[in-house]
Amino acid sequence: MTTPLQRELERMLPAEDRLLDPADCWSYGADNSRLHAAPEAVVFARDARAIVELVQLCRRLKSPLIVRGRGTGTTGAVVPQRGGVVLSLERMNRILEVDPANRWLIAEAGVTNTEVQQAAGREGFFWPPDPTSSAFCTIGGNLACNAAGPRAVKYGTPRDNTLGLAAVAGTGEALRTGVYTTKGVVGYDLTRLIIGSEGTLGLATEITLRIVKTPDVIRVLLADFTSIEAAGQSVSDIISAGIIPGGMEIMDNFSINAVEDVVSTNCYPRDATAILLVELDGLEVEVEAASQKVEAICRKNGARNLQSASDPQERLTLWKGRKAAFAAVGKISPDYYVQDGVVPRSKLPEILEEIEALSQRSGYRIANVFHAGDGNLHPLILYDNSVPGELEKVEEVGGEILKLCVKKGGTISGEHGIGADKRCYMPELFNETDLATMLWVRDVFDPKRMANPDKIFPTPKTCGEAARAQAQKEFPAVERY
Ligand SMILES: Cc1cc2nc3c(=O)[nH]c(=O)nc-3n(C[C@H](O)[C@H](O)[C@H](O)COP(=O)(O)OP(=O)(O)OC[C@H]3O[C@@H](n4cnc5c(N)ncnc54)[C@H](O)[C@@H]3O)c2cc1C
Repeated sequence: MTTPLQRELERMLPAEDRLLDPADCWSYGADNSRLHAAPEAVVFARDARAIVELVQLCRRLKSPLIVRGRGTGTTGAVVPQRGGVVLSLERMNRILEVDPANRWLIAEAGVTNTEVQQAAGREGFFWPPDPTSSAFCTIGGNLACNAAGPRAVKYGTPRDNTLGLAAVAGTGEALRTGVYTTKGVVGYDLTRLIIGSEGTLGLATEITLRIVKTPDVIRVLLADFTSIEAAGQSVSDIISAGIIPGGMEIMDNFSINAVEDVVSTNCYPRDATAILLVELDGLEVEVEAASQKVEAICRKNGARNLQSASDPQERLTLWKGRKAAFAAVGKISPDYYVQDGVVPRSKLPEILEEIEALSQRSGYRIANVFHAGDGNLHPLILYDNSVPGELEKVEEVGGEILKLCVKKGGTISGEHGIGADKRCYMPELFNETDLATMLWVRDVFDPKRMANPDKIFPTPKTCGEAARAQAQKEFPAVERY
């Protein structure tokens, strides 16, 4: 039996632009979290006009509307917890303009990060945000989560690298933010407001990205240590010395061995307690001077060996293990839960010790792979999801890590966002007034709160309440798998 929403969609859209059969819709109810809920319908938009009409229909029928890039998010941000329509932007995938003179690239929101890098690269430029998932994730998703990656330490996040965007608000109105100059003085900065809002304010349709000239020289250094704290200390010392690398990543012994077992880089020493990868870029003379300083700092902190590569192929080999780390851990353990928290860089050695203590206490192995330059941790908690109750316990351990981050002056996400998964930790960071102020802003863009409901904000307010609400089937559509 079709619902009123489905009947309207049948009337509005050609068959190839919608899915209504539950079996077809099923895979659009999940992302990379372990949450799933079935949408009532999936719509594939081809332009902003279609999105305006869809938002207006959802308003009229009071239907939730969840905009989706490619579902690579890790927090359940695209899971339609109350059913409704999932709007997929995968067909809005055109690069509209690349303009080296003005250093911008304009693209539809469904273009993948890699397609942007390739288009900019043909002109000798790149777009700085570089999530490890770049081959699959969209720039709309990147903006919505303010997703970054290793290069954020030097070049910043989408908030620093977006000049403006076109969006459809939850009111059904199309709006443009920003005028495409590098000096954004006039009016409120709605671009930066929409960035990081996880599909709850505006549905971005077209984005103007700030592109950056590809550096003359890129060199990657790999230092190996017998203590993870020494690797963390080197990160703080490098930044204190005034060097801003284009990436600074740490992997611990478990991750090193997982990577060597699975992708065999043959350059990560299996007996190292930690490795530190440092990417330096710029003019030849700058890179040379910075390399010497970084090497000296690493040796002072006890690095056993240093390798370096400037040749593109050799650089890729040094990075290969880091890029494959999540997948490699996934091959070693039946399941893993990825957490995403941040501490001030100088607190890295302390938090790593505390995570190790938590691992001992809880009995779960925790592998550490992280964007050390930003103090952005990605602990991977290993477990077996076929054992009933394990996922819930692991989520609690993940929550403990977030609380430790907050205690150290950090925060509960560095780049993956809050979604459904972490919203109950928002009160660890914000008081009621802070949260109410954010919701006022939301209500301006989306007075009916129908765009991606149940995300970011803690409704119910605490984790305990959320669990009770689920147990009482207030959110009957949500499953864990
Ligand atoms: C193996 C792996 C590695 C990863 N590595 C990184 C990493 O290094 N750095 C990092 O930051 N993240 C990383 N991620 C997380 C994820 O890839 C990013 O958050 C990415 O930006 C999500 O993009 P997406 O297109 O898949 O968005 P989705 O998962 O489809 O959506 C994510 C959020 O964006 C919203 N959204 C999507 N499109 C729009 C739009 N056009 N307008 C408004 N809102 C929109 C959705 O509603 C949702 O709230 C990784 C994920 C995986 C699985």
